[in-house]
Amino acid sequence: MTDLASPPADWDPASRLAEVRARVHVAEAQCGRAGAGVQILVATKTWDADAAAGVVRAGGTLVGESRMQELAVKGPALRATGARVHVIGQLQRNKAAIAVEHATCVQTVDSLRLAERLSRLALEAERDLEVMVQVNVSGEDSKAGVEPEEALGLAAATAALPGLTVTGFMTIGLNSPDEQAVRAGYRRLRAIRDEALILSERGELDLREAWHLSMGMSADLEWAIAEGATIVRVGSAVMGPRPGA
Ligand SMILES: *Cc1c(COP(=O)(O)O)cnc(C)c1O
Repeated sequence: MTDLASPPADWDPASRLAEVRARVHVAEAQCGRAGAGVQILVATKTWDADAAAGVVRAGGTLVGESRMQELAVKGPALRATGARVHVIGQLQRNKAAIAVEHATCVQTVDSLRLAERLSRLALEAERDLEVMVQVNVSGEDSKAGVEPEEALGLAAATAALPGLTVTGFMTIGLNSPDEQAVRAGYRRLRAIRDEALILSERGELDLREAWHLSMGMSADLEWAIAEGATIVRVGSAVMGPRPGA
């Protein structure tokens, strides 16, 4: 069983979201991207269905779930709110059906075998699934995702599968207070995305829609936006500290 938490009674998702939105706007303006429309994805892992739905009712349209056991529980309530749900945690192939049932996008494609499974499931469900390729730009062994050198190859092979649209690239940044080191990783992801778009423009790849960069979290979203993020994934800044964290 999954033990899901409910936030304290005075939790106010609308004002938390407004604070994060203000941070995003300031960050956009400070790096010359005013009006860029960086999207806020609220990571709702460990929180119960009411809390996740509460975020959506407060105006959060993008929700991220990390664990498929939780998504199976919260999925119906989230769907009822009209949220777009993204999978942001490592996805095992034997849990892929849960993702296809409840999510609009899987941000964590890290192997062709997983992409093939998602493609088959999407075809069975007669729907199109958005996917992003997760890249390990931090150099840390513990971080999920493919190596930067493999990212374009995996993206191209994934885009060739029916039922899937590759919408961009995702990374979990270096967990460090060293701004230059963290930003270097984000810059790497952006370079991969830029190459995908340039090669598509030349007709050498078919990744025209792969323009999203999902990078940055509560602690470092400003750095990610400065490096070109189009989606920042925010958990604690909206939900409060995770229980037990
Ligand atoms: C939990 C999570 C986040 C949000 O983390 P915070 O530090 O709480 O903002 C972002 N991305 C992924 C992949 C996560 O699992």
